[in-house]
Amino acid sequence: MKRIDILVPCYNEEAVLHQFYERTSSVLEQIENYQFTFIFVNDGSRDRTISIIRELYEKDARVSYISLSRNFGKEAAMLAGMDYADGDALVIMDADLQDPPELLPEMIAWWEKGYRDVSARRRCREGETFFKKWSSHVYYKLLKKLTSVPVQQDVGDFRLLDRRCVQALCSLRECQRYTKGLFSWIGFEKKEILFDRPPRAAGKTKWNYWQLFNLAVDGITSFTTAPLRAASFAGCLLAFLAALYMCFIVVRTLVYGGDVAGYPSLISVVLFIGGVQLMFMGIMGEYIGRIYNESKGRPPYIAEERGVKRKEKS
Ligand code: UDP
Ligand code: MG
Repeated sequence: MKRIDILVPCYNEEAVLHQFYERTSSVLEQIENYQFTFIFVNDGSRDRTISIIRELYEKDARVSYISLSRNFGKEAAMLAGMDYADGDALVIMDADLQDPPELLPEMIAWWEKGYRDVSARRRCREGETFFKKWSSHVYYKLLKKLTSVPVQQDVGDFRLLDRRCVQALCSLRECQRYTKGLFSWIGFEKKEILFDRPPRAAGKTKWNYWQLFNLAVDGITSFTTAPLRAASFAGCLLAFLAALYMCFIVVRTLVYGGDVAGYPSLISVVLFIGGVQLMFMGIMGEYIGRIYNESKGRPPYIAEERGVKRKEKS
């Protein structure tokens, strides 16, 4: 019998965890011919999440868990879960029931047809502000233009991955992970199914605009060096224009004589060039920061406690 692991990263999810477990279990009961396991990853929660997970672990043989030593972020939590998963396939689901478990049978059906990565695409983004929708749209357009890896739009982490995809993802050990891009990077045959994403069942979202902005920058810097190329290009262009202007000034001074006027244009050019230089130094800094972070070679997460009933992965 094939076994499917359900990976659930949890950070302060005491409000929904029971509900998640009940609803997902009742869906799993209706799916025959497969064995299921839950892998809960407690990402350094500060509430009762870990005691709820331990409770589930005690009463249900299908449940295993990993508890990280602090909050490492969802990306690292997912990697932790993947490292311990050893089923034939893995489904990544949010704990807040925004990824409806009712979609599992359809995902499994596509997997059986040979697709290695079945992801769920949001049909509409209800309950989100206009600004969030617009910025996400612009961002994905930009990302698509800049990178050769096609990152899927409106697709979250809710997906079914074949064991081969999971192994591929585990082999990528970068710390500043942008898993969404990695899903595309590893390749394999992909299938998207559509669904309506409901609002959170309970509890609060863990994301704010600052974190989303950081994730957006990570997405770009981990998949393309195009901004550096743009910096070189803009530098060349500005130098060329400056040279032209210099010729013009020299000729004009020779023909008409010098004058001291021109302070406004001088100061605006100096400020403009200064601004452009700072911006590109910032962009270079982003990449250097990534090199620095990766060169330390720290593990992406640290597991503090594990509850695994079945045979451990060697
Ligand atoms: N999550 C996590 N670590 C974090 C932040 C979030 O493991 O640092 C988990 C969280 O418990 C949930 C999932 O990632 O299961 C998605 O988080 P959330 O619902 O807050 O994000 P949203 O759905 O609003 O994008
Ligand atoms: Mg959510």
